[in-house]
Amino acid sequence: MQRRNTNQRRLIYEVLKSTDIHPTADWIYEQVRKEIPNISLGTVYRNLKVLKEEGKIIELNDGKQSRFDARTDKHFHFKCAQCGGIFDIDSDGLISVNKDKLLDLGFSVDDLDVIFTGICFKCRGREN
Ligand SMILES: [Zn+2]
Ligand SMILES: [Zn+2]
Repeated sequence: MQRRNTNQRRLIYEVLKSTDIHPTADWIYEQVRKEIPNISLGTVYRNLKVLKEEGKIIELNDGKQSRFDARTDKHFHFKCAQCGGIFDIDSDGLISVNKDKLLDLGFSVDDLDVIFTGICFKCRGREN
């Protein structure tokens, strides 16, 4: 039983690592089912939760749905309003926060999380 759980979790992690589309749990479930046909969506959710707690993956929630990301180094995201795609944006030098200014206002900053929204390069290419 324990071993089976470990294999399931490893596969879910491998599936997530193999893509950069920031998939939903449903998408991951469809992929994992090809290898483990009798796995349930609930099992996928449960394992995603454990992987998140272990710090191996991150969860992005836009208020409507959760998307998952196996890339855990600091980076930002761009969400396309047209296709719903989520893209990684390297944070280097893109945004700097004036922490002192925020501290003046009474806020102590630990972290910064940014989701850009707009139209992605793929959708812009289609339009033009
Ligand atoms: Zn798009
Ligand atoms: Zn990402």
